Amino acid sequence: MDFDFDLFVIGGGSGGVRAARIAASEGGAKVALAEEYRMGGTCVIRGCVPKKLMVYASGFSRTVEDGKAYGWDIRQHGFDWGQFRPHLHAELDRLEAAYRRNAQNAGVTIFDSRAVLDDAHTVRLADGKTVTAKHILVATGGQPFVPDFPGSELAITSNDIFLVDELPKSILIVGGGYIACEFACILNGLGVEVTQFYRGAQILNGFDEEVRGHIGELIMDSGVSLHLGCDVIEMEQQDEGIFVKATNGKNRHYDKVMYATGRKPNSGGLGLEDIGVKLGRKGEIVVDEWSQTSVPSIYAVGDVTDRINLTPVAIREGHAFADTVFGGKKVKADHALVPGAVFTQPEYGYVGMSEEEARKDHEIEVYATAFKPMKDAFAGREDRVLFKLIVDAADRRVLGCHIVAEGAGELIQLAAIAVKMGATKEDFDRTVAVHPTIAEELVTMRKPVR
Ligand code: NDP
Repeated sequence: MDFDFDLFVIGGGSGGVRAARIAASEGGAKVALAEEYRMGGTCVIRGCVPKKLMVYASGFSRTVEDGKAYGWDIRQHGFDWGQFRPHLHAELDRLEAAYRRNAQNAGVTIFDSRAVLDDAHTVRLADGKTVTAKHILVATGGQPFVPDFPGSELAITSNDIFLVDELPKSILIVGGGYIACEFACILNGLGVEVTQFYRGAQILNGFDEEVRGHIGELIMDSGVSLHLGCDVIEMEQQDEGIFVKATNGKNRHYDKVMYATGRKPNSGGLGLEDIGVKLGRKGEIVVDEWSQTSVPSIYAVGDVTDRINLTPVAIREGHAFADTVFGGKKVKADHALVPGAVFTQPEYGYVGMSEEEARKDHEIEVYATAFKPMKDAFAGREDRVLFKLIVDAADRRVLGCHIVAEGAGELIQLAAIAVKMGATKEDFDRTVAVHPTIAEELVTMRKPVR
């Protein structure tokens, strides 16, 4: 049977674009891609990139303050969202154009349209036109999930925060995961009065307990009003703002309420179930280790598969798919020891297991140190950094590395290479320290604390 294309990709985010480009440029495939919103997807348009630029923006309040201790005479006149926002969006426009250009330069045909599946080899575009392809890749990502409760329609999400006309004076952020913690720090740094509710006993559920406690304290010390074991009962728009009734009885008005209560896969309304593509309990597309769905001609990568929902993972999955199906080499995306960072301030970088996870199957030694770094201590700050290594007591391998410090996202990328290579604690120890740095603690922790 003749198809219009060898590959049709639905979704122009990180995973989809990588797969399309590699299939076309290295696999010689005839490729089309449909995107209903903006090329670049969550990462570029309403996720990692604008978030990181806002992290940078918010960091200046601290830099300016600390500058005084270092002899600088600088005065803060406040953050001007009206000046920053257009600059931010110009950068996103530039990146979006680059994504489009790179895909087109690789020979990919782009349809600026929603696409749904008609059958195992046919997609239907928004104008009703149908296109056939030998293989279809679903890379439609995810979207914020807001629970249903009275007044929930008043909540904004991370999709909206980059688009607000003015920064709110006060905001309630609900959730204790990546997005909630990152935006609590960002908005606090930009001068917004931030309250954060998390329903559990400590933020960053699933991460290393010691790290969670450490970051929780830092967030509170930085001025965020963090309430644990607390949730919203209902919300109502009133003249003074959004009135929030809370389970802890601290009811009050906020200018805005942002929900960061997780994300769900964008698998609805695509016709997937009708043609036999199996979905999981959360709506995620079920795939095997080759990213192949229950319908052999249809593959899926990235957040819509809800494996590890990180941009670099989606990119690896998309690349592995293209190599395997079009490049003549069988490649599986490797989901082991994926490092990551939570861009709180300070950041948290991690690779490998938490202490609690490691204890389940290993006899371990824990090396940890928390201290005031020279730069902050000089500026009169009480903040402490945390370095932690989890070591297998039997074979001495470093099972996990956790860093809470300025630049931890950068540091963990390097530590992750060693951990991925199977470095032992003794490999860390025989590496000479770089002095004076905060990261030298990684190679100078001599005695286990536990
Ligand atoms: P997370 O899964 O990280 O966190 C969701 C939070 O919302 C948790 O604290 C969860 O609580 C809470 N929650 C869930 N449902 C409810 C509810 N009904 N009522 C109240 N609270 C609720 O999701 P995010 O939205 O923060 O981020 C989504 C994903 O995006 C991340 O998991 C990550 O994969 C990715 N991401 C990565 C970033 C990075 O790499 N730096 C940055 C941002 C996002 P509980 O723990 O109790 O279930």
